[in-house]
Amino acid sequence: MTELLKNYLGGRWQAGAGPGTALLDPVLGTELARVSAAGLDLPAGFAFARHSGGAALRSMTYGERAAMLGAVAKALQPQREEYYRIATANSGTVRADSAVDIEGALYTLGFYAKLGESLGNRRVLLDGEPVRLGKDPLFQSQHVLSPTRGVALLINAFNFPAWGLWEKAAPALLSGVPVIVKPATATAWLAQRMVTDVVAVGVLPPGALSIVCGSSAGLLDALEAFDVLSFTGSAHTAAQIRAHRAVTQRSVRVNIEADSLNCALLLPGETPGASAFDLFVNEVAHEMTVKSGQKCTAIRRALVPESLYAAAAQAIGARLAQTTVGNPRSDAVRMGSLVSRAQLENVRADLGILQQQTQTLHDGAGHPLIDADAAVAACMGPTLLGTREPEAAQRVHDTEVFGPVATLIAYRDSAHALALVRQGQGSLVTSVYGSDPAALAATALELADSHGRVHVVSPDVAGSQTGHGNVMPQSLHGGPGRAGGGEELGGLRALVFYHRRSALQSSTSLLAHLPTAAA
Ligand code: NAP
Repeated sequence: MTELLKNYLGGRWQAGAGPGTALLDPVLGTELARVSAAGLDLPAGFAFARHSGGAALRSMTYGERAAMLGAVAKALQPQREEYYRIATANSGTVRADSAVDIEGALYTLGFYAKLGESLGNRRVLLDGEPVRLGKDPLFQSQHVLSPTRGVALLINAFNFPAWGLWEKAAPALLSGVPVIVKPATATAWLAQRMVTDVVAVGVLPPGALSIVCGSSAGLLDALEAFDVLSFTGSAHTAAQIRAHRAVTQRSVRVNIEADSLNCALLLPGETPGASAFDLFVNEVAHEMTVKSGQKCTAIRRALVPESLYAAAAQAIGARLAQTTVGNPRSDAVRMGSLVSRAQLENVRADLGILQQQTQTLHDGAGHPLIDADAAVAACMGPTLLGTREPEAAQRVHDTEVFGPVATLIAYRDSAHALALVRQGQGSLVTSVYGSDPAALAATALELADSHGRVHVVSPDVAGSQTGHGNVMPQSLHGGPGRAGGGEELGGLRALVFYHRRSALQSSTSLLAHLPTAAA
C-alpha cells in the first residue's frame, strides 16, 4: 500500500484512521498516496489553532507577519522541483501548466510579503477618517479593522492545490488569522507536501497553519462564530455550505468562489488577421488548453460578430489542431490530462449536453494520445463548439464544461453581445478585444457590474497584458451571482475578509491616541 499522508492538526502530525482514499496518477492510473481524516479530533484541532495560533499571530505586527510570509516563500523555493514532480504525477499537467499553480503560489506569497511590509508596525488597521456624529466636534466615530479571533478554514478545489492554498493563506496569515486548509482530495498531495516543508522549518507559530486531507465531514461543524470560511469549488457544494448551520446560525462569514461561464468578446470593426482578431484567437485557444481547461477563469464562451464567425472558427480550430495531448512526461505533449477518469466522464457528459444545441467546429476526439493509453488516461483533445443562434443554445450560458471545451458564439450587434455575456449570470472575468479605445472603455464599464474582473486587450498591450485567465494578486478575484459572489485578492482588499470592522465612538482627543494604541 502507498504512504498514508498525515494531517497536521493541533500542532502535530496525525494519521487518519483506516486505509484512506487513494490519490491516483490520472495518466498512468497508478496509486500515488492515500489520505484519511477519519477519527481526527477536529474540535480540539480547531480550538488549538484558534487559541494558540491566533494569539501568537495577533501578538505580531503586520510587518512581522509580512516577514513571516517571506520566510514561508523561502522555505518553499528550494523544493520547487519536487512540487513539479508531484503535479505531473497527481494532476497530470505538463510543466508549463504546473507552473501556473506552483509559480502562481510563490508569486502571490511574495506579493503579500512585500505588500504587508507597507502596513508596518501595527496590529490594528484604521478604516477611513474620524467623522463627527453631531454638531459638537468633540465626539466622533472612527472605524477600525481588527483581526478576527477565529480560524480561517480554507476549502479548496482540485485544480489549484498550490495557488489555491497560498492565495488564501497569505492574506489570512498577514491579517493575523490562523489557517486550516482542506485541499480537494484528488490532488491533496501537493498542498500536503508544501505544508510539510513549511512546518519543517518552523517559521510559523504553533497552530498558525494546519492541514486536513481527506473527507470534509465535520469540518463545518467545528466552526464557531468568529471563524471564517473561504471556499472554492462547485456551485453545488457551495449551496450545501451556505445552508450549513455554522453559516445560518453562527454567522460564520463565508467567501464563495464557484464556477463561471467566462467570456472573450471580440468587438465589431475588426478583420481576420488584424491584431485584435489574432489576440482574441490566441487567447481563446490558449485558455481552452492551459491545464486542460480546468481553470475557473477559463474562457467558456467566445463571442464574435456574425461576419467573423467563420474566420474565427477556422483560426481557433487551426490553433487547437496543433495541440498535442497525452502523457505530460513526454516532450512532445503540450496538454496533459484531466484530473481523473471521473472528471473525464463528467466533462464528456457536459460536452454531450452542449453538443445537442451547437455545432462541433473542432472535435477533440480526433487528437491521438501520445504515450498514453486511452483506456486508462484521463486525457482528451480540445473541442470547439459553435452557434450562430445563441438564443437556441441556452445550455451554453448555464453549463460549465470543466475541461478543454469552449463555444464560439455569433452576435448581431454590441447590445446583443452584452446581453449574451450577461446570460452567464455573473462571471469571474470577461476579456474584451478591439482596437478602438473608446469602444473598449465603454464595453468594459458596461460589463464591470457583472464581473469581478474585465480584462481589456488592445494591440498596444499585446506583449504586456497578463492573460485572460491569470489571476494576479493585485486585482480582485471573484465574481457576482453564479460565480459565487466572493471577493479574493485585490491587494490589501483581501485582508478585509479576515478582519472585523467596528466603529469606535469617543472623544476626538481619545481618537488621536488610536494610531499609538494600535501599534
Ligand atoms: P467541489 O467538488 O465542489 O469540491 C471543492 C472542495 O469542497 C473540495 O475540497 C471538496 O472535498 C470539498 N467538499 C465537497 N463536499 C463538501 C461539503 N459537503 N462540505 C464541505 N466541503 C466539501 O469542486 P471541485 O470539483 O474540486 O472543483 C471544480 C469546480 O471548482 C469547478 O466548478 C470550478 O469552476 C470551481 N473553481 C472555482 C474557482 C474560483 O476561484 N472561482 C477556482 C477553481 C475552481 P473533496 O475533494 O474531498 O470532495
